Amino acid sequence: MKTKQAQHAFGKQQWWLFVSELISFAVIFLTLGTILWQVFQPSIYQSVTRGIKVQRQILLGQRVTGGPASQDAYRAIAFRTSLLVFDSDGTLINGNPTAGTPNTNNSANQPKKKKKTGSQNDYVNVLQQIKLNPHHLNELRDIRVNGQNNFRTMTIKVPAANNALGYGGYYVMIVTNTDSEHVSVGVFKRTLLWTMVTFWLISILLSYVLARLNMRPILRSWQRQREFVANAAHELRTPLTVIQNKLEIMLTRPNDKVMDQTEQITMSLSEVRRLNSLTSDLLLLARSDSDMTQIRTESVAMAPFLETVIQPYSEIADSQDKHFEENIQLDRDLVIDKQRIHQLIVIFLDNALKYTESGATISFSARLVGNRWELQVKDTGIGIKDQDKAHVFDRFYRVDKSRSRATGGNGLGLSIAKWIIDSHRGKVTITDNHPQGTIFTISFPLTRPKK
Ligand code: ATP
Ligand code: MG
Repeated sequence: MKTKQAQHAFGKQQWWLFVSELISFAVIFLTLGTILWQVFQPSIYQSVTRGIKVQRQILLGQRVTGGPASQDAYRAIAFRTSLLVFDSDGTLINGNPTAGTPNTNNSANQPKKKKKTGSQNDYVNVLQQIKLNPHHLNELRDIRVNGQNNFRTMTIKVPAANNALGYGGYYVMIVTNTDSEHVSVGVFKRTLLWTMVTFWLISILLSYVLARLNMRPILRSWQRQREFVANAAHELRTPLTVIQNKLEIMLTRPNDKVMDQTEQITMSLSEVRRLNSLTSDLLLLARSDSDMTQIRTESVAMAPFLETVIQPYSEIADSQDKHFEENIQLDRDLVIDKQRIHQLIVIFLDNALKYTESGATISFSARLVGNRWELQVKDTGIGIKDQDKAHVFDRFYRVDKSRSRATGGNGLGLSIAKWIIDSHRGKVTITDNHPQGTIFTISFPLTRPKK
């Protein structure tokens, strides 16, 4: 259950995630749109610009540069390019300019004899409205006439000496109709805008889903942390209550000797021991959560190391009338964290001893399997049901709470074991031992000893 405060904090966090993801998407789409616009728009006008430049070179009697691509561009726009000839006062002197090039129409001053159609007349009217602007010579300029006809133009001054085409001393304005380019740009602009809007709307949905997904692990770990703290507090309180009780009982008998109160003292001491192991387990897990506990690996001769680790447990087994079998076939050096692997084996052997009756058999084996090394702890004890197998590695999880309490378990051993296994990149499996009991198999990748 989430508290109101936490709910508010998580809501805020999720909102921020959502907003930041939305902004990121917007920035990406905007950048993409701008790049597309910047690249595509000039490319639409590319052939017009090239054609006008060739036209200019021809008018000035210069050599045409730019190779076949420029020639093609020039030919492509020729039919929609007109030349307006102005004198130095800005008067249009070819009153009837028509689409054409200097090559096809070199008698600019003579109006065409040909009869014009209505639309041609309209077009001439439009062209006649264009005024000379002698301040912008040799520059590409886009103009719009009557609010609907678009042209890209360039005005040049033909030197008087250069009268081969009949334009010597005049201003010639190259006027190319760009209505089709204008339409293309408009269509492109609209398409781009709609695409951006659509993608941005999709990104709202995506940001929402992503924000929720990103919040999940945070929520999960927060939940786990809360449970951990709550369980830890509960576990710490139980032995403390016992100790408090015992001390209070002792206080009611001030004249008793230590001898008379051995039972209370022993029980208190055992609770203190429990508290001790509990707090060190909790500390270890808390540190492992914050990655503060580091793994210190070293090259270890495995066989003698494992012998020393299991020795005390074979003695305890003897004292509890249990059979202890060992089978160590790991005659080599391996790189491990000695202290942690020791702790790991102790956790499994401790469980094997705790959850078996007298007469049971506990076996420990170590061997190489392919490119891994494997530890196995088998017992003929009470076993673990399938539904519990998935949970025994959870913190504070105990199958039989009352029994574990009697045997002094905190339910932390296996979660510490799991952390050690993970930090050694190992795997662990639980299987049933037949006819009864449990088998824990832990395997690790082989790491080469350092030279
Ligand atoms: P401690 O923190 O002291 O180890 P614990 O033994 O109860 O306490 P874990 O070692 O984490 O905690 O084990 C979790 C639970 O898994 C145990 O309470 C027990 O119910 C079950 N379990 C673990 N090992 C065995 C086993 N060999 N046979 C049967 N049940 C087991
Ligand atoms: Mg245990």
